[in-house]
This record gives sequence, structure tokens and C-alpha cells, in this order.
Amino acid sequence: MQNIQNYINGEYSNPIQELWIDNYNPANGEVYSQIPNSQSDDVEAAYTAAKSAFKEWSNTTLEKRSRIMLKISELIEANLDKLAEAESKDNGKPIWLAKAVDIPRASSNFRFFANAITQFASESHESVGQNAINYTLRQPIGIVGCISPWNLPLYLFTWKIAPAIAAGNCVVAKPSEVTPMTAYLLGDICTQAGLPKGVLNIVHGLGGSTGQAIVAHPDIKAISFTGGTVTGAHIAKVAAPMFKKLSLELGGKNPNIIFADCDYDDMLTTTVRSSFANQGQICLCGSRIFVEETIYEKFKADFVERVKNLKVGHPSAADTKVGALVSKPHLEKVMSYIDIAKEEGGNVLCGGNKITVEGYENGYYLEPTVIEVPTDECRVNQEEIFGPVVTIMPFKTEEEVLQMANKVKYGLSSTLWTNNLKRTMRMSNQLHAGIVWVNTWLMRDLRTPFGGVKDSGVGREGGFEALRFFTEPKNVCIKY
Ligand code: NAD
Repeated sequence: MQNIQNYINGEYSNPIQELWIDNYNPANGEVYSQIPNSQSDDVEAAYTAAKSAFKEWSNTTLEKRSRIMLKISELIEANLDKLAEAESKDNGKPIWLAKAVDIPRASSNFRFFANAITQFASESHESVGQNAINYTLRQPIGIVGCISPWNLPLYLFTWKIAPAIAAGNCVVAKPSEVTPMTAYLLGDICTQAGLPKGVLNIVHGLGGSTGQAIVAHPDIKAISFTGGTVTGAHIAKVAAPMFKKLSLELGGKNPNIIFADCDYDDMLTTTVRSSFANQGQICLCGSRIFVEETIYEKFKADFVERVKNLKVGHPSAADTKVGALVSKPHLEKVMSYIDIAKEEGGNVLCGGNKITVEGYENGYYLEPTVIEVPTDECRVNQEEIFGPVVTIMPFKTEEEVLQMANKVKYGLSSTLWTNNLKRTMRMSNQLHAGIVWVNTWLMRDLRTPFGGVKDSGVGREGGFEALRFFTEPKNVCIKY
């Protein structure tokens, strides 16, 4: 049994009150490690370490900050196998996916912001006729909190930490209690890279105890949060009276809109991926598929055939396309939606059942599931399921599909398949989403703004948007 520890002031330590939580391997349902359930005293210790590091770190040259972050990036790459194995064991995702996407992306996050901070410029405005010049200082906020979810553990954890420290802040960070292992390993990497003690502090534990203590801490002045919409709303309520700066990246129920004039094969291959990558547990997955009625029957047959062939298996098997869901409660939640779909008149075209993988009978495996829904207003089409379950239905006109696509409370991403330029422009303008992908999915350029509208969140991450979030602008006006 491997115990995970907090990383505070550059050292690993047990939680002060010695409270622990079991950590499960979703591939076999067994407890394989214990993690701290940190309380407010642990968060206070992390805060104190961050505070004592802040003066020096915020005055460290950009070149030096950047050099340390590039070293962290290199060390993540050098530990690719170890980190990918840990991620896969914690999360249930196929190990090849962790190796090809999650861990390389964590490395890119540090590399990207190590470079971005050296290019981050602020504005100046000459007040013509008034003999004055204004310039904007972009100062670090101080101590900031970063809280991340379980679906892309190290990827999203570092997506927050990297811009925060690049901008000169010190951080109290909490990964998901469901997938703490790679965040734990990151501590050692930061020490090896020479990150000064206290710049990054990692506290593990439950949302209601550790997370709550970070959000409620009066001197942690900004919170960058990625997770569920209900949690985000709660965080906003706790933070509001303290006027904290908030970035909330929340849930999604993203439309995947397919017109008959698209490149069909490309669309089909990508749609399988955008539906079931990471067991459908990506906030950006296209979980509502709308297909133009002239190709609906053909698409339905081709898609279902492809989905039936997706190999569900142990995350370490090379041919596994769909691994285990992250936890037992999550598996149960996802399966409950399949029952809801049936009650609502949905037609399960394939999947819908729990799978037993030989040798790993207690793992959390579910068949990739496609449900034909009678109306876009049913619950499975409106609520975030966050698993390997997608809905499909036909549409007749652009106006109709636009209306259905927008008629949900979420607005994270949208995918559009068409070769009609005018339609692309019209629809991209009108879709309620922070991101619109046209003839592709999940193609990311880290310079672009990332985030959602409506219940999918507030604020943007990525590129200079993230550096703006993690700095406070100050206008200086000099009369001469
Ligand atoms: P969650 O909201 O349950 O937990 C996210 C994090 O918040 C965890 O670290 C958790 O411990 C913590 N937390 C929980 N309660 C808290 C509280 N009261 N105070 C402070 N912290 C608290 O979400 P999850 O189940 O881990 O992740 C799945 C959700 O994340 C889905 O809704 C998904 O769409 C969303 N997500 C969004 C994005 C995005 O970029 N918009 C990316 C990935 C995941």
C-alpha cells in the first residue's frame, strides 16, 4: 500500500490530524493507496509556506522562472512511463492514452507558460495633450488556489499551476481526491527542478474539507477551479463575500452537429473519438449528436457498427480503446442515465450494460452506449452524464438544429461538420459555446482562450488569458 503525502514547503508530509482516505484502482476495484484528507490546519500550513516564498518568487527574474519551469517540463517528459502508469492506475484510462496525451500535455503546459511569460506585455497609453503617460503593471495576485478534477488529472492540474507560478504567484493546489497520484509525484519533480520551497504546495483531500478550506481562506485571493457546475456554484457563493477573483471551468453537454455535405469518413472517425475518448469523461466530448436527416439512417448504422467494435478492456492492454470509468459511484451515476433514457422512450442502439473484464471482475467497465432519443428535451439530452453514453437524433434545417444545440443550460464547446462556408460562419457566430470546432475536435493551440458560457463557467484559461487571470492590472499615470 503506497501512502500519498502532502507537498508543503518543498517537503512531503503527513496530514496534521492523520486523517486518511482510501484510493481505488478503477480497473479492479481494489484500494491500492491512502491519501490525506487534509483539513484547514493543513491548508493553513500550505498557505504559510506559500506566503513566505512569495516575496522572493515574485521578484525572481522571468528568465529564471522560465528556466525552472522548462526543467519541470523536461522532467515530466523524462518520467513519461512512470507518470502514465500512475495516471492510468488511478483513473482507469488506457495507458497508451496517458502516454500519448495526458502526460505530454502536462509537460507542454509548463513549457508553454515558461515561454509565454517572457512574451507577456502590458499596455501603455499616452494621454495626448495632457502631458501624461499611463502604463499598466501586471502584478502577481499573491497566494492563489488551484482545484482540479479527476478526468484529466495531471493535464488539468498543471494547466492551472503553470500560468499561476509563471506570473509570480505562489500556489496552494488540490487535485481530485479520486486521482491524486500524479499530483503527488509532481512534488518531487518540482524539487528536482529547483523550484524554490513554498512556491507550489499540494494538499490532498476531499472537496468538502480540503477544497472548502482553500476557497474559504481569506488570504487566498484567487481561485482557479475546474470541475462540476454544482461545485462551481458553491465555490462562487463562498468566495463572493471575500471578492475573490474566480475562474470557473465547469460542465458541458456539447452538440456535435453533422451536415450531409461534410467529409463523411473523417467525420465518422472523429465522432467515435469525440464520443468515447477517455471513456466519454472529457468535458468537451460531443455527447449530443445531431445528424441531418438525409444521412441519418446511414450514419446511425455506420456509427453503431464502429462503436460495437470498440474494445473495452483493462487500461494496461495495448488494444483497449475504452478503459474503466473512474469510480464506482460514477459508474452507477452513468448507468442510472441509461435507465432514465429508457423510461423517457429512448432507444438504446448499442451498449448499455456493465462489462466484466476477465481477471478484473470488480472493475468499473461499461459498454460504449448510443441512445436514439425521441426529443432533444429529454433528460439524457439535457444533463451532463460524463461517461461513454451519447445521444443521437436527426434534424431537418439549420435553424432547427441551432435551436436544439443552444437549448441546454451548458455552453462549453460545439462541433460542426460541414463544407459550407457561409453556414459555418453563421452557425459559429450563433452557437452558445466558448469553443467551436469545425471539421475537427479537440484540436488545441495553447495560445487560444479556453472556457465556456452559461453554466459551463466564468472566465477563460489558456495563453495570455490565463496570465491575465493570475495577475492584477494596475494603472500608473505619470504627468510630466
Ligand atoms: P467536482 O466538482 O466533483 O470536483 C472537482 C474538484 O473540486 C475536486 O478536486 C473536488 O475535490 C473539489 N471540490 C468538491 N467540492 C468542493 C468544495 N465544496 N469546495 C472546493 N472544492 C471542492 O468535479 P469532478 O467530478 O472531479 O469532475 C467532473 C466535472 O468536471 C464534470 O462536470 C466536467 O464537465 C468538469 N470538467 C470541466 C472542464 C472544463 O474545462 N470546463 C474540464 C474537465 C472537467
